[in-house]
Amino acid sequence: MQKLIIAIDGPAGSGKSTTARAVARELNYLYIDTGAMYRAVGLAVLRAACEVDDAHVAGLLSDMSIDLERNGDDQRTMLNGEDVSGAIRTQEVAEMASAVAALPSVRAALTKRQREIGQAGAVVMDGRDIGSNVFPDADVKIFMTADAAERARRRVAELHGRGQAADFDVVLAQIRERDGRDAGREIAPLKRADDAVDLDTSGMGIAEQNSRVLEIVRRKMVGKKD
Ligand code: C5P
Repeated sequence: MQKLIIAIDGPAGSGKSTTARAVARELNYLYIDTGAMYRAVGLAVLRAACEVDDAHVAGLLSDMSIDLERNGDDQRTMLNGEDVSGAIRTQEVAEMASAVAALPSVRAALTKRQREIGQAGAVVMDGRDIGSNVFPDADVKIFMTADAAERARRRVAELHGRGQAADFDVVLAQIRERDGRDAGREIAPLKRADDAVDLDTSGMGIAEQNSRVLEIVRRKMVGKKD
């Protein structure tokens, strides 16, 4: 079996997690949602109620264990041995994840972890900087986008599906703000790798975006014999 490293980057709500998970399932690869690691750090910072700066967060990080466990096709996120897979899916944690993701200590620690997990290949990793920074030599790099209004609609539907209240205008404003912060930070910003394949999923159904990505991966597999 070819053990490729597949990097799928893009902004919140572009559909990258859904597709990354489906592609991993199809290929029997490991799926790694790197955003969950930033969210776990964000949750720990919220719980500790500490200052969001390198000095305080680096201290927390040194005693923090973040583990990703395989849970069928999905991933379970463990923070200091506690399953926080549900707890990290709130807007408050998303905002804090984006804030801590700009800190050098956090980026260095999580990037190192992600490289350790992914280096053996047979992995689909989604995030913001996988193709541009974590695995610049990834076999397949996809940069997924969708317009902000569509991403907000998807996010509202997802929150409603989980029984949480959500207002479209508020969600849209949050998405725009998070995009700006993720793209504007100094270290490893949300950035399309020069050699990434662009996939705009606006107006595309999940089945279509999954098959587009699988097609790109299969083409790569044919070109690269083991
Ligand atoms: O993908 P998700 O929305 O769960 O990511 C939460 C936050 O984590 C993002 O807004 C971003 O700031 C940060 N992140 C990152 N680099 C990654 C993945 C996520 O900076 N590779």
